[in-house]
Amino acid sequence: MTKNNKKSRVYFKTFGCRTNMFDSQVMMNKLDNFEITNDENNADVIVINSCTVTNNADTTVRSYVNHINNNTKAKIFLTGCGAHTKGEDLFKDEKVFGVFGQSEKQKIDKLLQSDTAFYELGDLKFVDKSIIGEFIGKSRAFIKIQEGCNFRCNYCIIPFVRGDARSMDEERILQQVSKLSSNGFGEFILTGTNVGSYGTGSNTNIARLMKRMSQIRGVRRIRIGSLEPIQINDEFKEILDEPWLERHLHIALQHTSQKMLKIMNRRNHFKQDMELFELLRDKNFALGTDFIVGHPGESEEIWNEAVSNLKLLPLTHLHAFSYSKRDKTVSATMKDTISGDVAKKRLHQITNIVEHKNYQFRLKHNKNLDILVEHKTKNGLYSGLDQYFNKITIQSNEDLSGNWITCNDCIVKDKYNYVQI
Ligand code: SF4
Repeated sequence: MTKNNKKSRVYFKTFGCRTNMFDSQVMMNKLDNFEITNDENNADVIVINSCTVTNNADTTVRSYVNHINNNTKAKIFLTGCGAHTKGEDLFKDEKVFGVFGQSEKQKIDKLLQSDTAFYELGDLKFVDKSIIGEFIGKSRAFIKIQEGCNFRCNYCIIPFVRGDARSMDEERILQQVSKLSSNGFGEFILTGTNVGSYGTGSNTNIARLMKRMSQIRGVRRIRIGSLEPIQINDEFKEILDEPWLERHLHIALQHTSQKMLKIMNRRNHFKQDMELFELLRDKNFALGTDFIVGHPGESEEIWNEAVSNLKLLPLTHLHAFSYSKRDKTVSATMKDTISGDVAKKRLHQITNIVEHKNYQFRLKHNKNLDILVEHKTKNGLYSGLDQYFNKITIQSNEDLSGNWITCNDCIVKDKYNYVQI
């Protein structure tokens, strides 16, 4: 409370991934003695939910802290992944009043009332009790089902700041889904740090969770944020023909050269990746992947191998980005780095290849498109996604936001499909 008994205003600045967005939602929901403001200049308190995935992410957070200190009188609290890497320095330099780790976020109401500066990282084994959904439009809900990762990819800091994989309680997830579906939500997107590892060490797994979700009345489509190739095991293969499973899977390969996968300490192998992708293509799935370009050691020879392999893969979507160094990772110590210009060219090259593949896919899959319309865009058209995760632009005089429509005669354009209703 402020002196005149008015509630203090808190502004949340969230950097990074969807997991951080969820954590911010959890924190906002836990505030009783504060009110939330969307205006940082008008805030008494600023909570920075930080990201540390690359050195650049750290720099962005540090610049933001400096900007706030120079331009406002707000009390600053730092949380999120960056609390573990840069929190101590910022705290010692008195640039932030309090630092707290993700496990402490349930106590946020009390922490923000503290009169004494504090540094409490908590532990990396906690499991969220409250399952918070983040909702887009009227019909899509994101559900965070797990936290942390047991993999140790050489370029990645995430397991060290988010901890090992642990899963949310299955009954609680199902309760949350039931509640949302009875409120009209039809599509559910499962997210987390390493979503496919859901249930590790217990008697459940992602396939079993999805099967149970699909039995809830009103659940129409289930998507998974991202999977690792080895997580598509026999049990997962059994659900591939289910009508509620999104016909698009995002499978994180990260690279298509076997030598590079080894340098990165990835668990996937290109030969098996190829077999898996062919199996999924034969079942008419659209297939996306992440791809890191320009990791140290990506010689001409490795790159050429990666491009030939990529051309063979039945990919339809690509999330490619240039490698960015992250201190305290194994990759950061590797010497044979790749210049930014070379990485940019390579990025461009594979983006073009996959855009062409996506266009070919849309030409072939242009009937029975089941579209969830999301919102009206600035130019007065509606935008939606079909079951293959392809964008559809819709012209209509009716208000279609949040509706499901079926399309049999979409016009296939360069980068998206178009229909007039
Ligand atoms: S799978 Fe690899 S890249 Fe993904 S969070 Fe785990 S360690 Fe990082």
